[in-house]
Amino acid sequence: MMSNNSNSSTSKNSTNHPHPMIPVPDAMRIALREVASSLLREIDHDEPKTFTETVSLEHALHRSSAEIIQAPISIPVVDTSIMDGFCIRYADYLSAQSGDEFKVIGYSVAGDASMRNEGEAHDASNSFEAMYVTTGAVLPAGFDSVIPIEKVTFKEGSRESNNDVLESIRNGHAGCISIDKGKVALAEKQWVRKAGSDLKAGAVLLHEGQTICSAQIALLAQTGIFSVLVRRKTIVGVLSTGDELIGERNIQSGTWNKVGKIYDANRPAIMSLVQNFGALVVDLGQASDTIESLEEKLSVGLSSCDIVVTSGGVSMGELDLIENVLVQKLHATVKFGRIHMKPGKPTTFLTIENFGSKNLTKFVLSLPGNPVSAMVCSHLFIYPILNLINRGVKRHETVNEIVDGTPVHPEIDVVLNDDLKLDRERPEYHRVKLKWDVGRSIFVATSTGMQRSSCLMSMNGATALVCLPRATDDKNICKAGEKHLALLISNSFKDIVEPQIVKHSRHMLRHSILTKRKKIKVPLKIGLVLRKTVGSPEEHIERVQSILDTVEIVFVDSVLHQERLSQILLEKTKGIDVLIIISNEGFRDSNKLAAFIDSCLHKRSDALALQMRQGAASECGLAALFEVIVGTINQTLVCSVPEEGLVGALGKIRGRVMFHAVMITQGKPYPHK
Ligand code: AMP
Ligand code: MG
Repeated sequence: MMSNNSNSSTSKNSTNHPHPMIPVPDAMRIALREVASSLLREIDHDEPKTFTETVSLEHALHRSSAEIIQAPISIPVVDTSIMDGFCIRYADYLSAQSGDEFKVIGYSVAGDASMRNEGEAHDASNSFEAMYVTTGAVLPAGFDSVIPIEKVTFKEGSRESNNDVLESIRNGHAGCISIDKGKVALAEKQWVRKAGSDLKAGAVLLHEGQTICSAQIALLAQTGIFSVLVRRKTIVGVLSTGDELIGERNIQSGTWNKVGKIYDANRPAIMSLVQNFGALVVDLGQASDTIESLEEKLSVGLSSCDIVVTSGGVSMGELDLIENVLVQKLHATVKFGRIHMKPGKPTTFLTIENFGSKNLTKFVLSLPGNPVSAMVCSHLFIYPILNLINRGVKRHETVNEIVDGTPVHPEIDVVLNDDLKLDRERPEYHRVKLKWDVGRSIFVATSTGMQRSSCLMSMNGATALVCLPRATDDKNICKAGEKHLALLISNSFKDIVEPQIVKHSRHMLRHSILTKRKKIKVPLKIGLVLRKTVGSPEEHIERVQSILDTVEIVFVDSVLHQERLSQILLEKTKGIDVLIIISNEGFRDSNKLAAFIDSCLHKRSDALALQMRQGAASECGLAALFEVIVGTINQTLVCSVPEEGLVGALGKIRGRVMFHAVMITQGKPYPHK
């Protein structure tokens, strides 16, 4: 979608922003796709061992398992008594008459092998025998049921004994028990924990990619496993930027000029979030607003960290230099540079290929300086990225499968407690506190108050982000009592509600709702033709609408065969200003498709095709292989673009470029304002 040439980055300060403003879910997908591709590349070129380490159980909490662990033993290993009492044979119990006695021939206590009194056979072959057992004791061979001690009468000789039972048995005193069958009902195998009844050998205790919790540590310990292979922690460096920041040294020495200077809130905030998400955090300190300082700090960070998170310096001001430095000095590529959200619009995500060593990709998330934007975007972007890395990837998985399976925030419906005014420009991630309403059985969301992006009090106590749409002419307030989707950001909720995976996340699918336009701007009718796409027509209509912002988008057809496509190109272009053919097929097929469409075109527009191809490739590297083709048929501009790379391709022609191209196609004058 964007290039790493100097034009795109230096023009950041121009009013015509080089980066399209894309919906949050699209931005998240782009970031996850980049991370997934790089993990696949690393797997292809490295020993997976590089990414794992063995830790003892005491260090395993919250780590991500890198192996599947099956129980090596059953629990219990052998049949075990659940009660203090006497084990007998159930068949004897069934045939016993009232008053019949069971001879006590020995005992078995927890941790001790069973002992039979001298002269007693070692295979309970005689009927009406019993042995004393304690809770957790191995059930002696030949016995199958246990009767609790309080349900029997223990006798020594012919008299009831008040002596300590175990003591008497150990002392070799012949004893016996009698059971009052009228009062005691015994079932077969009662009070016995059969071998493997708690856990069978071979049961899966930990899945690969699973986050280890206390119960799993207990299970591993119980089955004699004392260390576990985990994924190494992702190393995340955190850098603050801005000349206004008071440095640690200045604070200590008191040598700072108070006017206009501020304390650095972002670094501690982001570092604590990153730690909380399970990564290893590196404090990269502060950089001033100069190219030299930024380059130095970023280089240090990039060489020691997997991901660098910066804050500040990413907006449109003269001193917002981060992107310039990353792109021009450190050869980064911007993957997205503006998001249709509040707070956090300028959030920028970049990758640097082959940094340090071949096949190693570094990621940079550049967050806006306002602390609330920095924190909200850390939640929205860093958390899923780290989840993906912890989840790990398998060689055979496709990038789409990996992204679809990545856990994002748990999401629930909440009821608003207040009227919330909607932003006219952008969907908002409104900070709320949640409280369970017992009567209504739903969480009630109370706003944390003023939501200005500098106002950190709006994060104070926030347990969720409510996804609010942007205002429309019809609706500019969400009323108290309305139900809305909320993303849970508090740890306590995350333990209760499972994180959603991308594929099933309503937030990830609802960008059209979030970004619903107040007024549709570009007066063009777009037609979509899908060829072997993964996404459904509805998804593509939403996606194209969110990028192109046009009057009308219609789904024309899904085509498999060239004949059908040729029929569409001949018959269905009438009244359509731009026909976009979105396809998902291999390199060779895309060549054939291009040749075929080319043969149907009245005129080709190679310049536009080149732009779109570059845009597609910078969103998704493999899209460079796709033969983008653009041209005209009668009054219609026809473009054939790859499904992966669609956002980047259309981003290149959105707005005036596309409108102008259509006007030329239709021989109309371009209405300059
Ligand atoms: P910027 O994104 O650099 O334009 O900064 C936007 C706002 O955030 C400005 O008011 C900055 O002073 C403020 N800001 C930038 N960095 C920090 C930080 N580390 N801690 C607190 N506020 C900051
Ligand atoms: Mg700044």
